Amino acid sequence: MKIVVLKFGGTSVGSIKRIKKISDIIKQYKKKYKVIVLSSAMSGVTNELVKKSKQISKNFSDAEYDALVSAGEQMSCSLIAGQLIERGQKARSWLAWQIPIITDGKHKFARINQIKKKNILNYLKIGGIPIVAGFQGINYQNRITTIGRGGTDASAIMFAKFFNAEKCIIYTDVEGVYTTDPNKLKSAKKIKEISYEEMLEMASLGAKVMQPHSIQDARLNRIDIEVKSSFKNKSGTLITKRKNIINNKIITGISSTQNDAKITLLGVKDKPGIAASIFKPLSENSINVDMVVQNISANGKETDLTFTIKSDDLNKAKKTIIENKKINFKSLLIDKNVSKISIIGVGMVTTPGVTYKMFQALAEKKINIQVISTSEIKISVLINKKNIRKAIKALHKEFKLDK
Ligand code: ASP
Ligand code: MG
Repeated sequence: MKIVVLKFGGTSVGSIKRIKKISDIIKQYKKKYKVIVLSSAMSGVTNELVKKSKQISKNFSDAEYDALVSAGEQMSCSLIAGQLIERGQKARSWLAWQIPIITDGKHKFARINQIKKKNILNYLKIGGIPIVAGFQGINYQNRITTIGRGGTDASAIMFAKFFNAEKCIIYTDVEGVYTTDPNKLKSAKKIKEISYEEMLEMASLGAKVMQPHSIQDARLNRIDIEVKSSFKNKSGTLITKRKNIINNKIITGISSTQNDAKITLLGVKDKPGIAASIFKPLSENSINVDMVVQNISANGKETDLTFTIKSDDLNKAKKTIIENKKINFKSLLIDKNVSKISIIGVGMVTTPGVTYKMFQALAEKKINIQVISTSEIKISVLINKKNIRKAIKALHKEFKLDK
């Protein structure tokens, strides 16, 4: 049985008109494949439901949150199924408990553990098109669970895995993954092929095409993903393993963050355990620390420590640091006008001089680098927010991404 999994995101099912459009796409695939459809809620619906829960309580029950916010997918799936039936197809909606899709872990952030195949396989065998609610599952206590915002991507990937699908196609409102955010740089180019690792970095760094978790799932299970637009009939981006990519570029993409803040502690004691006493209470308060630098101390006694966090966490972080009795420092500096620019590419593993090229390109534009961090396939720098566009443009050109 040749199976294809098609996932439609919120904007792809955002109106009755869009639902009619995607039913054409589904019908096309049905000619050659057994089709399993995964759908998100119509755009805006999940946010509305979340808002309602907040009007009841800031501490709205997690279990009821899941029961509530999963409702959006029930709506879109039945509309898609109804539309297909209207056009003479055999289709029906499937909710997680009817399959079932079994999850593990906490409410709001559950993970799909297993998908029982029997019901769906039987339905495919009689020629049906199952329209499956994404984002939801049930746990071992038979309660409805959700798998994190944007989770329908992960649902689709897990269906592709359990049903051994030939293709997993993520339909969205953009044409694919771009070398950088096209809203920030006009000459951004659609990437034909990208590795899981690069995509994971791009997604975690803010390219909103797919949910980062789902890419990790795809990587672990070696599932090729095609990302394309449901609005235009054009080829998209293939996310696949490194080996499958014949790519002669050193850098694949550039990403930037919007909402970072930089904190500097001046004059902290330079002795073992100090960094730990600073970061432990931050982590206990769920504040994610990103880039960190510590200067070499000039007098051997004191040093300066700089790190970045999300601006949303700034007040909480300030409070945590000030109330921290285990540390002393001379002063606390805060800068909200920072942005992290990253260049990403598996090519840098084997190419020397990438760091130098990046710094040189920024220097030529007189852009000051405040903090640097690197991983095997990524180099990130912190710069003043006002220079984001200039920096992206310079780096895009330097690494020949316009071509
Ligand atoms: N509807 C859910 C959300 O908005 C899941 C999804 O879109 O994939 O987060
Ligand atoms: Mg969504």
